[in-house]
Amino acid sequence: MADPKGFMRHARREWPRRPVGERVKDWDEVYVPGGVLPFVEQQAERCMDCGVPFCHEACPLGNLVPEWNDLVSRADWHAAAERLHATNNFPEFTGRLCPAPCEAGCVLAINQPAVTIKNVEAAVADRVWADGLAPPRPPERLSGKSVGVVGSGPAGLAAAQQLTRAGHTVVVYERDDRPGGLLRYGIPAFKMEKAQLERRLAQLRAEGTRFRTSTAVGRDIGAARLRARHDAVVLAVGATAWRELPVPGRALAGVVQAMEYLPPANRVCEGDLDVSPLSAAGKHVVIVGGGDTGADCLGTAVREGAASVTQVDIRVLPPAERDEAVDPWPVYPTVHRVSPAHEEAGELRFAQDPDADARLFAASALRFSGDGAGRVRAVHLGGVDARRRPVPGAERTLRADLVLLALGFEGPEVAAGGAVAELGVAVTRDGTVARDEEYATDVPGVYAAGDAGRGQSLVVWAIAEGRAVAAAVDRHLMGATSLPSPVTASTRPLRA
Ligand SMILES: Cc1cc2nc3c(=O)[nH]c(=O)nc-3n(C[C@H](O)[C@H](O)[C@H](O)COP(=O)(O)OP(=O)(O)OC[C@H]3O[C@@H](n4cnc5c(N)ncnc54)[C@H](O)[C@@H]3O)c2cc1C
Ligand code: SF4
Repeated sequence: MADPKGFMRHARREWPRRPVGERVKDWDEVYVPGGVLPFVEQQAERCMDCGVPFCHEACPLGNLVPEWNDLVSRADWHAAAERLHATNNFPEFTGRLCPAPCEAGCVLAINQPAVTIKNVEAAVADRVWADGLAPPRPPERLSGKSVGVVGSGPAGLAAAQQLTRAGHTVVVYERDDRPGGLLRYGIPAFKMEKAQLERRLAQLRAEGTRFRTSTAVGRDIGAARLRARHDAVVLAVGATAWRELPVPGRALAGVVQAMEYLPPANRVCEGDLDVSPLSAAGKHVVIVGGGDTGADCLGTAVREGAASVTQVDIRVLPPAERDEAVDPWPVYPTVHRVSPAHEEAGELRFAQDPDADARLFAASALRFSGDGAGRVRAVHLGGVDARRRPVPGAERTLRADLVLLALGFEGPEVAAGGAVAELGVAVTRDGTVARDEEYATDVPGVYAAGDAGRGQSLVVWAIAEGRAVAAAVDRHLMGATSLPSPVTASTRPLRA
């Protein structure tokens, strides 16, 4: 700890965002490039180097937060980068995308604003690339074993990198035309530019990982061939089966799923399309679902030039600050968070209700109605209480030309012809791929990691599971492993 009084000297200061009016005109990341650098060393000095660092406990990766905070506060970027990569293959992803359970668990957060752990992580990660501190690390010798990884989201990529570096020949199969999973066609570029992904993919390729894109396991390559080709298989197919809203009017044109809407918008950023076929330009948009996917739809619709956007959340307005009786420190609390997309919609008055930041809480979509041509024109809402019981008299109608359903995901796709069904692995009652503590499914040599096994989760958990499944596969192939295994299949976030 460079300065034992750092937390008394310096107030928390976050990575500044670009002005709203500027950033909604492009798809670049919302943060000022390099904007955290002038004060990041002071921010790292706020870390108390706790004897029991709950930041570390709260992070599925077990990130060595106090160590890299100390190194950054001393401007030893090289050593900080080494410590950062000791536990995380892709810190530039988590430094941008993670909701930071580490900060919720930071000891300083008991009575002060937490250390800006996520900003420090992003700053170190960016410095790593700027200074060429992340060269490819190909293995010194090959094991002669081969692993097929199905799916190229953060879980598949982390598993592939760990296994390749351990000397195995790894082939990643991806049904999309480009690797990346939800980082590619789900998460918008204003949260993380695709260049971040490309850099890591180039590193993986240079280390020896091979990618077979536009190749769906089950459709383009059968399970028997896959298993015959490889000594082990890792299923990292994500939890992409979306939740439906079976209410009257669901079949109207213009009512689409968030993950039908976001991929073409991302393809515009990739240069594949000039305009998305589902563009919100000039439309009144209603997003049903109050989570992060809904917020990503909101930021996208604002950038596409929607006439108005409203996000409907069935939950009641959460408290502004942690309610200790419900979510005591150090658990991740339910609080009213204002994402950059909400900030934009609020400042630019994008909601139909001009007082709101685009969100309507305690509201449930009851039905959609359309015009004579079968196109959606309105969403009819009912009010609900905290236990989601109807509140009489709280009904309202919103104008809508485009309705985006962002209600979360059921689990992996399990229909016949998909990877899960064709490999014949058992599925739990929750709809996820069943596995033991070491990620092994009931089919010998087939493992499952990431959202496919955990259910809809976070990038940080996907990377942690990718690292852990690599250790399990390495042990299966070689009889022993020195790869780290930060979480088991049943590890869960800190709970009260
Ligand atoms: C819109 C959206 C925004 C999100 N934002 C955030 C965020 O800001 N922060 C955060 O931490 N988390 C976020 N998440 C969650 C996060 O993206 C996921 O938890 C994470 O990507 C899961 O990683 P994964 O590798 O398990 O699966 P995925 O990223 O879903 O990747 C699975 C891959 O498997 C491929 N695949 C499926 N079947 C086959 C097959 N048969 N053959 C070959 N390939 C196949 C898919 O095409 C896909 O590329 C978001 C999720 C969504 C939907
Ligand atoms: S809990 Fe907070 S103050 Fe303590 S070591 Fe972690 S980041 Fe530093």
